[in-house]
Amino acid sequence: MEFIQPATWADALAVQAELPAAAPLAGGTDLMVELNFAVRRPPALLDLTRISELRHWDIDGHQVRLGAGVTYSQVLTDLAGKLPGLALAARTVGSPQIRNRGTVGGNLGTASPAGDAHPPLLAAGAAVEIASIQGTRSVPVDQFFVGAKRNALQPGELIAAVRIPLPTGPEQFSKIGTRNAMVIAVAAFSLALHPDRQEVGTGIGSAGPTPRRARQAEKFLAAALADSGLWESRGGLPDTVAAEFGALVAAAAEPIDDVRGTAAYRRHGLSVMARRTLAWAWQDYQNQRR
Ligand SMILES: Cc1cc2nc3c(=O)[nH]c(=O)nc-3n(C[C@H](O)[C@H](O)[C@H](O)COP(=O)(O)OP(=O)(O)OC[C@H]3O[C@@H](n4cnc5c(N)ncnc54)[C@H](O)[C@@H]3O)c2cc1C
Repeated sequence: MEFIQPATWADALAVQAELPAAAPLAGGTDLMVELNFAVRRPPALLDLTRISELRHWDIDGHQVRLGAGVTYSQVLTDLAGKLPGLALAARTVGSPQIRNRGTVGGNLGTASPAGDAHPPLLAAGAAVEIASIQGTRSVPVDQFFVGAKRNALQPGELIAAVRIPLPTGPEQFSKIGTRNAMVIAVAAFSLALHPDRQEVGTGIGSAGPTPRRARQAEKFLAAALADSGLWESRGGLPDTVAAEFGALVAAAAEPIDDVRGTAAYRRHGLSVMARRTLAWAWQDYQNQRR
């Protein structure tokens, strides 16, 4: 197997164009496991770790542009205040070693339904910046996952960055696992309140072939908050609203029974996580005014 280590982004794109079957390598925490277990045998590895711009993030207008090689540890140290939803999810990933190596771009590359970065990116309305020698295109993250462990990348394309709108309201994340660390989610849920435009964002993980939004739940909650003037008053949230939101989130999932949990348990867990994250987010929203 060839090992190619470009020093610049332009060189990496040129290699990927010439050898589309080369496997990009970021932290290697997914890819090396697949190689070791002979799940795949690419003709070449394209090591991206020498390309310093992939490890950088910056603020571009109202968005954070997060280079594809930014690790979970960087998210935690640099961005916990700016991107609280992603940081909450990052904190639950693997162990410190995995968080030091594993990247958000690699999570998107694998596109596992259980990827923990995906629910907060969905809830925030993020977009994936995709590059090739032809140029750059942007794909909303809810269109990026096209099947189980399949993403929207075409041959010759690489993930350059992910653009995440800076939150205007609270963000929350919750994950069910069989223990508190080093665990793939049985189910996960992210919620973002967008009071600037009176909208709600959601992201469901590990409960369908792809990570997904709960669109009906988003619409219902946004309308319920608008109809009762709660976006402005920040008054108490009726239990009936939280219960219906939870039920709609569970209904949006398409879980299966597997070794980690049953479909019924996942649906139930999602309804509980949806209600809980809503209660936490609403409390944050009420506290922000004080
Ligand atoms: C012990 C252990 C625990 C883990 N725990 C968790 C967990 O709790 N939650 C979780 O979500 N994940 C977990 N993972 C999985 C893994 O750590 C994450 O998916 C991580 O985000 C992968 O990032 P990486 O940089 O290591 O990717 P890599 O392994 O380098 O790459 C992953 C995939 O993305 C592709 N890729 C990488 N960069 C690019 C790019 N710029 N453009 C296009 N394609 C690219 C690669 O070719 C590969 O297919 C765990 C893994 C291990 C080994």
